[in-house]
Amino acid sequence: MNIHEYQAQSILANYGVPVPSGIVVDSLKEAMTAVTELGGRQWVVKAQIHAGGRGKAGGVKLANSPAEVEEHVKRILGKKLVTHQTGPEGKIVKKVYITKAIDIKKEYYLGMVLDRTSEMPVMIASSEGGVEIEEVASSAPEKIIKVRIDPLIGFRSFHARKLGYGLKLPKEQMKDFSQFAAKLYKVYREKDANLIEINPLVLQENGKFIALDAKIGFDDNALIRHPEILAMRDPDEEDPAELEAGHYGLSYVKLNGNVGCMVNGAGLAMSTMDIIKHEGGEPANFLDVGGTATAETVAKGFQIILRDKNVKSIFVNIFGGIVRCDRIANGILEAIKTTKVKIPIVVRLDGTNAEKAAQILQNASLENIIPAFNLADGSQKAVKAAKGELS
Ligand code: GDP
Ligand code: MN
Repeated sequence: MNIHEYQAQSILANYGVPVPSGIVVDSLKEAMTAVTELGGRQWVVKAQIHAGGRGKAGGVKLANSPAEVEEHVKRILGKKLVTHQTGPEGKIVKKVYITKAIDIKKEYYLGMVLDRTSEMPVMIASSEGGVEIEEVASSAPEKIIKVRIDPLIGFRSFHARKLGYGLKLPKEQMKDFSQFAAKLYKVYREKDANLIEINPLVLQENGKFIALDAKIGFDDNALIRHPEILAMRDPDEEDPAELEAGHYGLSYVKLNGNVGCMVNGAGLAMSTMDIIKHEGGEPANFLDVGGTATAETVAKGFQIILRDKNVKSIFVNIFGGIVRCDRIANGILEAIKTTKVKIPIVVRLDGTNAEKAAQILQNASLENIIPAFNLADGSQKAVKAAKGELS
């Protein structure tokens, strides 16, 4: 789960990480009140959407007077913002964060992610802050410093020193930097984050570091331990189909292809996507209907897949272990009736009662149901059907 910048900064502030003072608003009137409340002479108007690259896209604006704040809020609030992370359709800005402007001496990058290879969190720092870290990684990889942190040992001063020396920080900044990094690690651990990105981490004229921008992602499986974070969820930022799927216990992730997939079990779902690609097709989604697929979950699955207008065929790939194939076959028929599926559906049901299931589907004699006899056969047929090459 992701949260907004203003929420991330409030979490960091609770851990004593310096962040700019700011007030989040959803109207121009509130924005002007915020300016008075914050005081000062320079402010920043920041679009609150779950995507980076706002600055380049005109979603982060410095204002030298309340009149300029007004101008920027009018231009940003309620408008669509297209950044390199939103996709071409962009996102409507429903809230803006008004912050007191910070003076910048130098911009750095500081982040944390889980490194699955070493099975440890890794802290990443770079002297090239404020720009995309992916770009630095490919053009100047030597400017990226990483330290793995064994969670059993925790964040120690040698970690901080390695990062600080790598950044070529002046000696007087080392202490402040290492305290900053230690707090970041604490947030990561205690809040079950799987990503923290401070870009830029700003060194101010007064020699202190501040988290000018903040992004935090959380491990969904740990949210049960953090009701305060779950309360920060912004449904406007989530795919409505993914939300609805979650409501019915299905895991759905929308992708960009045209072969819809309905599979039971995450592992089989992933191999199904792989084999579709192997056959020259593009999966339209990941959908795990769960180990206990029922007629209802299958029907819901069809509805969710079909909401995506790019879908040209559906590959149902279900292995009946606990769940019996004949039940799924009935579920599919019922779902096709209720959701009026018109596009080709390639069905591979294998495992318990597979023969019975095949019989049920055959007896129904629906012309858009195409039986498949194994994984390869099914994926080939689904890819062909999506291309309109299956007659
Ligand atoms: P992003 O583009 O979505 O990553 O948004 P950021 O919050 O990182 O802001 C983009 C850029 O705007 C930063 O890299 C800074 O250069 C600039 N910026 C943001 N806030 C301030 C501020 O308080 N003072 C100054 N001088 N620049 C700022
Ligand atoms: Mn940023």
